[in-house]
Amino acid sequence: MEGRIAIVTGSSSGIGRVIANDMARRRARVVLMSNVPGDLQDALAEVRLLAPESIAIEADVTKSDDLSRVVDQVMDVFGKVDILVNNAGITRDNLLMRMKDDEWDSVLSVNLTSIFKLTRLILKPMMKARYGRIVNIASVVGATGNAGQANYAASKAGLMGFTKSLAAEVASRNITANCVAPGFIRTAMTDKLNPKASEAILSRIPMGAMGTPEDVAHAVCFLAADSSRYITGETLHVNGGMYMG
Ligand code: NAP
Repeated sequence: MEGRIAIVTGSSSGIGRVIANDMARRRARVVLMSNVPGDLQDALAEVRLLAPESIAIEADVTKSDDLSRVVDQVMDVFGKVDILVNNAGITRDNLLMRMKDDEWDSVLSVNLTSIFKLTRLILKPMMKARYGRIVNIASVVGATGNAGQANYAASKAGLMGFTKSLAAEVASRNITANCVAPGFIRTAMTDKLNPKASEAILSRIPMGAMGTPEDVAHAVCFLAADSSRYITGETLHVNGGMYMG
């Protein structure tokens, strides 16, 4: 990834932070992005040990002005964007009958609408450069559904459909768009689950263990590499056999 510029949203923690590190290890210059400044600066310090020219931009992906500011700043500093990893995501779990409008709206806003908006902005420079690698972080539950996660599953299933349509639109410009769909990965997001729920999920994983953010980052870097030029519109599942698509 030498010479490549990669934006990774939600890279202050969890999977996004490890993706940012992995790309920096492969010599990309990384633009880290998230909402909470303290964690973001810690993540940037880590990434700069590997890719000193990397930068961090504080931005809320649900705010259109913030997204425009990010793209303007990246173009000012680097003059291009080669790789976009749409990783920022949230859960607001509840049974459908009890789900509040806000729980639905906030999940769809962060996990789907923001990706439409940021990708639309990024496409302009990518189309001009006739190069791009877009990787969207979906989830196994986008393919399987999950009780208590109608909002989250809808956002991730929507992301898969979005990615296929995008892939078809930009393929002729040497831009690929793919999803990585993690299964059950150890991060702050899954630490919130109670032990009983974790045990129930573990019993459904043939490999008998949770995945790591490194497992996901490996798949993202594979799809974001120059050499993955002929793979587009795909969803790569990283789930220890929990679901075989
Ligand atoms: P995480 O540790 O909670 O990290 C989420 C990241 O998204 C954080 O950096 C957070 O930054 C950022 N973020 C959230 N809302 C944002 C907003 N409005 N604007 C900007 N940044 C925002 O979660 P994770 O487990 O690493 O999840 C990363 C991705 O993987 C998500 O898309 C998730 O759906 C997906 N995934 C995770 C699992 C799993 O088992 N962990 C499984 C399947 C899919 P701030 O703290 O600054 O808000």
